[in-house]
Amino acid sequence: MRDLSEPQLKQDILRHLTYTLGKDAAHASTYDWRMALSFAIRDRIVEPWFASTRKTWDTGHKRVYYLSMEFLIGRLLEDATINLGLRDMAEQVMAELGQDFRTIVEDEPDAALGNGGLGRLAACFMESMATVGCPAYGYGIRYEHGLFRQRFEGGRQVESPEDWLTQRHPWEFERPEAAYTIPFKGHLETRDGRDVWVPGETVLAEAYDTPVIGWQGKWANTLRLWGAKPTTLFDLDRFNRGDYAAAAAPETLARTLSRVLYPDDTTYQGKELRLKQEFFLTSAALQDILRRFKAGGFMLRDLPKHVAIQMNDTHPAIAGPELIRLLVDENGMEFMEAMEVARACLGYTNHTLLPEALERWATFTFGNVLPRHMQIIERIDHWHRDTYHPPHWVGIVKHHEVRMGELAFIMSHKVNGVSALHSDLVKKNLFAELDGLHPRIINQTNGVTPRRWLKMCNRPLAGLITDTIGEGWEADLDRLRELEPHAKKSAFLADFDAAKRANKVALAGWIKEHCGVTVSADALFDVQVKRIHEYKRQLLNILETIARYHDIKADPKKDWVPRVKIFGGKAAPGYAVAKEIIHLINDVAAVVNSDPDVGDRLKVVYPENYNVSMAERLIPAADLSEQISTAGKEASGTGNMKFMMNGAPTIGTLDGANVEILQEVGDENFFLFGLTAEEVMKRRQNPDHARDAITASQPLQDVLQMIAEGRFSPSEPGRYHELVHRVWHHDYFLVASDFDAYREAQAQVDTAYADRKRWLRMAALNTARSGFFSSDRTIRGYMADVWDVKSAL
Ligand SMILES: *Cc1c(COP(=O)(O)O)cnc(C)c1O
Repeated sequence: MRDLSEPQLKQDILRHLTYTLGKDAAHASTYDWRMALSFAIRDRIVEPWFASTRKTWDTGHKRVYYLSMEFLIGRLLEDATINLGLRDMAEQVMAELGQDFRTIVEDEPDAALGNGGLGRLAACFMESMATVGCPAYGYGIRYEHGLFRQRFEGGRQVESPEDWLTQRHPWEFERPEAAYTIPFKGHLETRDGRDVWVPGETVLAEAYDTPVIGWQGKWANTLRLWGAKPTTLFDLDRFNRGDYAAAAAPETLARTLSRVLYPDDTTYQGKELRLKQEFFLTSAALQDILRRFKAGGFMLRDLPKHVAIQMNDTHPAIAGPELIRLLVDENGMEFMEAMEVARACLGYTNHTLLPEALERWATFTFGNVLPRHMQIIERIDHWHRDTYHPPHWVGIVKHHEVRMGELAFIMSHKVNGVSALHSDLVKKNLFAELDGLHPRIINQTNGVTPRRWLKMCNRPLAGLITDTIGEGWEADLDRLRELEPHAKKSAFLADFDAAKRANKVALAGWIKEHCGVTVSADALFDVQVKRIHEYKRQLLNILETIARYHDIKADPKKDWVPRVKIFGGKAAPGYAVAKEIIHLINDVAAVVNSDPDVGDRLKVVYPENYNVSMAERLIPAADLSEQISTAGKEASGTGNMKFMMNGAPTIGTLDGANVEILQEVGDENFFLFGLTAEEVMKRRQNPDHARDAITASQPLQDVLQMIAEGRFSPSEPGRYHELVHRVWHHDYFLVASDFDAYREAQAQVDTAYADRKRWLRMAALNTARSGFFSSDRTIRGYMADVWDVKSAL
């Protein structure tokens, strides 16, 4: 076993600095020290990682393969030290070496290989699978450029490419020997009565492995990301003729496949490159899975006994036909048997009901890029129609389109939604007919890893929890319930208050530095951070902010509860309405923050470039969690769970996992408002719903009037005419209909916050009752209900 002592750590850091980085300590930069520390920590992961792999091989244990186009990982250094139990030692050693641990940690760029919730879920799942000892591989794409960087110019969002890989990425191991050829295009031929695909293009998928270490280093799994390489490296003839650009063309073309992450997962992208990326990930993963399986010496028909494959949304739904292709065309299995084997291995997680996000491909495009798969899909569809006689509108290929949701459903043995409400809607609406024919929809409510989202990001609160109930809650989060009796005691509540306040003071300093706005740590920190989307209703929040501003101006002497409204989040670059909302928030912030009548009663801040690291800073300092989506639209949410764990009560609608948060925490500790999913559908039947709601609400009229008059855009009074017009005449997401209820709920928040004891008790009970939202619980659910796999610990 490796020596985990402090002198050894110090020695290893210095050794890496000298021999891996070639730097003299006297001239080493923060970057050099970070690399040296990262390599020293990585060394300590390698042994448990090998041990886990060996044990899985030796016992022939079933493995889980998690296929996802996104992994929103964030930073890894501090997370690794925490799971190894070496965090404080690392801080100490770095201090002895004259380095500040926080500075080192914050030098690491975020690995932002995802857009938002879906990608972050995949990252939490990887950590939880390692923690509970579920042997697993995550498969994704090693995007050279992750999610774009956001900045504001004149209040408008401006995007620039993100470049996390320009620095050395110390956590990964390149595996040039693990490479697979990925075919595209070309045509089909018949040889000896069999269909043979003759591809027109190929690229190479090369593996890069990152070990993922679980809590206390008891188990480690692999995140295997694929980078695209050309199969023919270089055109030497052309180079010799002096045509350098053309000579490099094959390389450039191949690399495009893993160049960029599509910056939107809530809209379907009908682009050939996107389809190629999806196939690239899926085919590389399945080829790797079959290679590993065969190395174990098993029969292919036993694949489901040893392999469970989970599709994170429909992005890897080509896995069904691709697995059939590999089994039939490359391994000689009969078609029907291959289909049964594939279905027994595959599971599909649905993440959205938004119609614009449901993937469909024109059969023309699909058949062009993947001709053999088009043929296989038509065969599956025929078989399904002839065997089950679904209604005529149900099927995989309809109106010259391939529907990936239906494909994923039919090719899986289990389909799950991500919260109780969402799974119910998937069953009743999206896949009603299919589920009638093949009942297979279950629910697995999302979760988040408490190691990153409590232990690591909120040291004051984590310390208090350990002092109060002892160690061990990190991997047994239900134990937080033991805090409940303490939530009645004023000494504990004072400590809880002090922990929150320390986070708020730290955040206030950071806001001053990054936004130039002075905020008081005595104010209520009201936080809405997530992707900017109409259904998430940042617009509702900013309209209420304007109403509050209006009321403060009208009666500045009233005993206002001071508030800081904190926004964070990116809009997809092509999403004009979302970008307009960003602009409005920034315009409102400029006016409110500089109005001398307002002072500390209200501040609005919107730091640029929301990402995992910013979430880790904002959420522990939040007093109030904004989860105000139009009911029926947010599949689960996971931000809501992070806030709850960190002791921030929710103001929210009955949507996604809010429903279960409310259930756990009790309605006296949750600010519920708004239409229910059913009422939303009914309300929309009234074509005048927006106008009716606005005419019934004087405050809302005042707010819309202020915006329309250009109060927040004096240099361009007409800037928001269209936006105001949309609220009056369209308002698909029912901002107007929920406005009064939201405002009333915000008034209740003020009242509750002014009662210190009551508020602290609410906040503490949110933490105490958040145990259900550990992703360990979610993973155990998948292991039992979907994957049929046991812990290897
Ligand atoms: C948790 C998280 C999300 C998801 O937030 P929701 O509020 O559930 O949409 C998105 N982005 C980042 C960076 C996160 O950490």
